[in-house]
Amino acid sequence: MASIQGDMHESMRFLKEAAVALEYDDREFSLLAGLSREVRVAMPLQRDDGSIQTYYGYRVQHHNALGPYKGGLRYHPSVNLNELRWLACLMSLKTALVELPLGGAKGGIDCDPKLLSRRELRSLTRYFVQKLHRNIGPNLDIPAPDVGTDAQVMAWIQDEYSVIYGYTPGVVTGKPTLVGGARGRESATGRGIGIVMQEYAHHRADELLGKTAVIQGFGNVGRHAASDLTDRGVKIIAVSDSSGGIINKAGLDVKRLVKHKDKMGSVLGFDSAEEIDNQALLMLKCNYLVLAALGGAVDETQASRLKAEIVVEGANNPVAYAGDLVLRDRGIVVLPDILASTGGVVVSYFEWVQNIQHMPWSEDDITAGLTVRLTKACDGVFAVATGQNCSLREAAHRIATKRLKDALWITSF
Ligand code: NAD
Repeated sequence: MASIQGDMHESMRFLKEAAVALEYDDREFSLLAGLSREVRVAMPLQRDDGSIQTYYGYRVQHHNALGPYKGGLRYHPSVNLNELRWLACLMSLKTALVELPLGGAKGGIDCDPKLLSRRELRSLTRYFVQKLHRNIGPNLDIPAPDVGTDAQVMAWIQDEYSVIYGYTPGVVTGKPTLVGGARGRESATGRGIGIVMQEYAHHRADELLGKTAVIQGFGNVGRHAASDLTDRGVKIIAVSDSSGGIINKAGLDVKRLVKHKDKMGSVLGFDSAEEIDNQALLMLKCNYLVLAALGGAVDETQASRLKAEIVVEGANNPVAYAGDLVLRDRGIVVLPDILASTGGVVVSYFEWVQNIQHMPWSEDDITAGLTVRLTKACDGVFAVATGQNCSLREAAHRIATKRLKDALWITSF
């Protein structure tokens, strides 16, 4: 395999598969797999109790042939360079698939935000910007929320960056609407999941109404997917977060559950449900299993035991490459991350545009724009999957990889 920086993440094999299907040679593959830039910064933080703890922050930029680098910023103890490399590449593929004028990046800090006070979180975020500001910017690299970060963290980044460069709302997306955030950005990834599921149901001459779904992860993506799917008539029978899972086969009241999670910090203890082990939840019989937590949730073992009809990747990279091969063998359809979890970056793009124009869009315009872009991407993916007799993931990767390679080739040579 052509050389790429550092250890190759297992999921790079998805890219390799696409390159082989497109008959690219090693030169072309290494152009696709190579990374533009990696930044690692050390941040000694004075904790509230006076002690010093050093955290590490990272930003990996994959490519900017189609536009500025774009991708989430994750605060989680599992943050590591190897995974960020694949997630940055995946972002490039996502933006290419939905034809956004953006590249791909990913970053994060290896911290547990739940163990930090608000002051500590704010200081760490501002410190990160002080160290990283030369590598981000509205025409360079535009971070957004991801696991463990939210609109508040984006507001701090915007402010710290603006201290150095003057008012620059376009340096991040996913900000509070009051300071330039797009209406509907917070719910966009969850809503996008609903749109893609709906499009796939239509493609199969089916409908979502009356179907059942299990959702792993009840953070930003999971809760908004649950709300959107409820609006489409899907019964959410079980959900989980890092503390555990809950189940009610008659259907969970999502609105009440969101309030419960906000108040208690966990889905556990919800009055109209029983508890279920997180692994057992993945094996429940249902129409749709929506994975909206972390990467690598489904490996070979879990893939061989899942009872869902369709797996939906709301998270980034939740089905490992080996697990995907098992699901393909078993004929279980996967709506892949590169398509199903793209709603967030589409609305981030709208936010970036409205920041550059200094002209806010209405939520209706944003929802309409999101629906048009995702529907078009779905049509393309379904057509290639049918025409080339391959999985939806393979189809999506082939389309995105070709766009990316063409742009890289034109700009490089
Ligand atoms: P979040 O931090 O808001 O939520 C993550 C949720 O997953 C939390 O509820 C957490 O408790 C839960 N979780 C963690 N480990 C778990 C486990 N083992 N079992 C069950 N639940 C577990 O993060 P988010 O923004 O919702 O992101 C979730 C995923 O979606 C990530 O993979 C992220 O990269 C991806 N994603 C996010 C966005 C976005 O706009 N936020 C966009 C595209 C993709």
